[in-house]
Amino acid sequence: MTRQSYAPEVRIIRLMCTGRIDLAFVLRAFQKGADGVIIGGCWLGECHYVTEGNYYALNMMHLAKRLLEHTGMDSKRLRLEWISASEGVRFAEVMNDFAGQLRELGPLGEGEGLDQEELQTKLEDTRKLIPYIKIQKKDKLALRLDSEEEYDELYTKDEVERLLSEVVSYWVDPEKCQACMICARKCPVEGILGGKSRIHVIDQELCIRCGTCMDACPDKFDAVCAITGQAVPAPISEEDRILERKAKEAG
Ligand code: SF4
Ligand code: SF4
Repeated sequence: MTRQSYAPEVRIIRLMCTGRIDLAFVLRAFQKGADGVIIGGCWLGECHYVTEGNYYALNMMHLAKRLLEHTGMDSKRLRLEWISASEGVRFAEVMNDFAGQLRELGPLGEGEGLDQEELQTKLEDTRKLIPYIKIQKKDKLALRLDSEEEYDELYTKDEVERLLSEVVSYWVDPEKCQACMICARKCPVEGILGGKSRIHVIDQELCIRCGTCMDACPDKFDAVCAITGQAVPAPISEEDRILERKAKEAG
C-alpha cells in the first residue's frame, strides 16, 4: 500500500464545547488506532458560553502536541480548527486537507518509524500522568493569551521533557506511619490502602500524584515522602502492615 492510497483513520472529537476536551481524550483516540485527531470548535471570541472554552482548548492542544512529541509522534497528527456550525464548506475543505496531510505522514507510528508496542506503552504511560500534568501545569492551562503565536510558544519541548522526567511519586514510610487514617480519608481517588492499626500503603496505579496525602499527614508523624524521578520502594507485605503498637497492646 502506498502512502497516497491508504485511507487514514481520523477521529473527530465532538462535544458541545471544545473547552470540555481533555488531554486524555486525545491520547486515548491515538491509543485506539486513530492516525489523526481533529478538534473543531467555534472561532475565538464567538463562544456561546461565558467560559470561552475554546481558549482553553487552544491552550490544551499546544500542551497535547508536546506530549505527542514526547512519545515520538509527529504533532501534526493533532489539529485544532475553528469551524462554526454554519461553515459546511470550510469543514469539508479542512477535513480533506487534514486527510491529505495524514496520507503524507503515513499510518500512526509507521510513518514515524516507531515500534507499535513501544508507542502504545509510551502513550499509556503518558495518559496515566495526565492528572499529574494538569496539576503541575494548572496555572499555564488557565492562561488566556492574546494571539495564537503566543500560544505556540507557551510550552517548550525542554519544559515538557523535564516535567515527564521529574515526575513526583508519593510513598508512605512504614517506619513512621501511625495509621491515623487521615490521608486515606482525604485521597481524592481512594488510592491509599490501610485501616485501623494498619500501616498505610499508596496504590501507585491509582495515585494521581496530587500531594494531598503529604499535606494531610500530621507533622508529628511526617510519614508521607515525595520521591522525584525515581521508582518508589516496593510496598511492604500484608503481614508487615499490622502496626507494632497493636502487637504490643495485644501482648
Ligand atoms: S498523592 Fe494524591 S492521589 Fe496519590 S495517594 Fe496521595 S492523596 Fe491519593
Ligand atoms: S496520615 Fe500519615 S500517619 Fe496517618 S495514616 Fe496517613 S501516612 Fe500514616
